[in-house]
Amino acid sequence: MTRGRSGNGMRPAERPLDETASAPRFFVMVGGPGAGKGTQAQRLAVALDVPHVSSGDLFRAALESGSPLGSEARRFMDRGALVPDELTVRMVAQRLDDPDARRGAILDGFPRTVPQARALDRLLDRRGAGVEAALYIDVAPDELLRRLSGRWICRGPEQHVYHERSRPPLRAGICDIDGTKLRQRADDRPATIRTRLAEQLPPMYEVVDHYTDSGLLVAVPGEDTVEAVTSSLLGAIGKHGERPAPVPGMRA
Ligand code: AMP
Repeated sequence: MTRGRSGNGMRPAERPLDETASAPRFFVMVGGPGAGKGTQAQRLAVALDVPHVSSGDLFRAALESGSPLGSEARRFMDRGALVPDELTVRMVAQRLDDPDARRGAILDGFPRTVPQARALDRLLDRRGAGVEAALYIDVAPDELLRRLSGRWICRGPEQHVYHERSRPPLRAGICDIDGTKLRQRADDRPATIRTRLAEQLPPMYEVVDHYTDSGLLVAVPGEDTVEAVTSSLLGAIGKHGERPAPVPGMRA
């Protein structure tokens, strides 16, 4: 891939907007709850120098801020259901209006339904852009169940992820990286996990079919190590993502 990082030491949000003149790059991450979308999206965002936009994180931030959108979303999130498309699309659209998203984004957890995927196409089309590839992290449902059941997340801003069996922290209950206490997400509790999988996997498979039909799906096996999955994704993007030079005058 030829697109380099700017290396000017500025944080993405501080970068002057005229650096966004090249075509924006939007990728969507597809995968069941617990497939590793968040972890991989963070790594890809760094590698591709675009923001990581997680619909789940946006909902959790809205909940914490006590906004009406947050309290509306909570009714669905607490029971492991999907938040209605209209609310979800509105929230993601607002985030994509932020200046840093003019460079593109790694969308993590969005779209989760075919209507959301179509709405995303319209949103990006208005920005003169489109989805470059849909990155599907393929993990069997039994493995998703196992992963979600023992998942613990740190309270630091990067929300490092641990697992009781496969990735325990060095000190029980404490993040190895930033020393914050680990917590279990409300929707990772056993009663909610089965609902999440039952409610969220069928529409996700429809999203996989949608992107297969449009020729944008890149599927990688998700049961390997974190590093191996990242390099499969980057390798696949490299092959899939060779694009013509940006069209002059195209909106960034
Ligand atoms: P996540 O952190 O991606 O697992 O998302 C946490 C919860 O937020 C999900 O279980 C859903 O209730 C809700 N959510 C996140 N993204 C979406 C989406 N694209 N559509 C509908 N609901 C979503």
